Amino acid sequence: MADRVDLKTMGRTDLESFVETLDEPSYRGRQLYNWIYARGETDFAEMTSLSKSLRSRLGEVAQVSSITVKRMQQSDDGTSKALFTLPSRREAETVLIPSFDALGTAQRLTVCVSSQVGCAMGCSFCATGLMGFQENLSPGAIYDQVWVMNQEAQERYGRAVSNVVFMGMGEPLLNYDAVLQSVALLTDEDTLNMSPRRITISTVGLARRIRDLADDDPRTNLAVSLHAPTDEQRSAIMPVNQSEKTSLDALEAAIRYYADTTGRPITYEYCLFEGVNDAVEDAKNLAEITRWAPSKVNILMYNPVPSLPFERTTTEQLNRFVQALVEEGVTVTVRQSRGQDIDAACGQLANA
Ligand code: SF4
Repeated sequence: MADRVDLKTMGRTDLESFVETLDEPSYRGRQLYNWIYARGETDFAEMTSLSKSLRSRLGEVAQVSSITVKRMQQSDDGTSKALFTLPSRREAETVLIPSFDALGTAQRLTVCVSSQVGCAMGCSFCATGLMGFQENLSPGAIYDQVWVMNQEAQERYGRAVSNVVFMGMGEPLLNYDAVLQSVALLTDEDTLNMSPRRITISTVGLARRIRDLADDDPRTNLAVSLHAPTDEQRSAIMPVNQSEKTSLDALEAAIRYYADTTGRPITYEYCLFEGVNDAVEDAKNLAEITRWAPSKVNILMYNPVPSLPFERTTTEQLNRFVQALVEEGVTVTVRQSRGQDIDAACGQLANA
């Protein structure tokens, strides 16, 4: 089994090329693609539009991996968190976050996907960072997280998933090719047919990869996890900032390039930690950064992780911080933390 090629690592054109190596016409690859991604089929025997001989040959040389739900938890606020077992037997987490209107109807259904198991970035406030890097997820494993959560969304709310954010476990731009392939799968009109404008790729700020993203332009949104407005403060909590290739200077150049190339605004994610980055002075420095390119700031309230020495900012300090940003003319939103009771909130994903 181990030496069979996993078709879940392939997109449409790869599958077309693959079937040609089996002396089959390329349209068989498109049929295979539809069985795997549009219908979620993993058993070649069930792919009845393929010839019997091709199904038998595929069974000898290929497999279609899948992720399995080990546990699905529901929060009091409607958030669902799935713990998936990957083909490697490692585990990854995915969260479905509903937003409700005044009548209690789910309007927006956002899936927060993991792109890696663990993470090498080691941000000092993050539960995932404590795990270290373990594995890059395949395009299919990323796609499957949305597929399963789409079924959960249909069952619970009678609606399809509307948004995807790459803000779960891992640094998406360190699994760059798989992330872009998964975006191609999610946005294909034959599969989930999502708009790229409803997909957000979030990064700690890997400058070279932000430039690549501008050039490759999957037409998704970009969010940068900033969390501190000066090199000194940022390097203290985010080791990635300690290299001059990923310091704020490098980030500024990359973000200007991204904005000029794509014409799309940037979202800065900024999590407030009491006494670390929540002073009015910090807000003024953050406002300077927002002038690099058209942008907005999304403020997050920290969800404390036992064993980590960070505290949530008080509501009074949050208000002072937001007021200072507004006075500087910055567009700012405060994201309500969701799913805290099931450890599904930002920075809490650690396969607990
Ligand atoms: Fe990795 Fe994001 Fe956690 Fe930093 S905050 S360690 S980039 S998962």
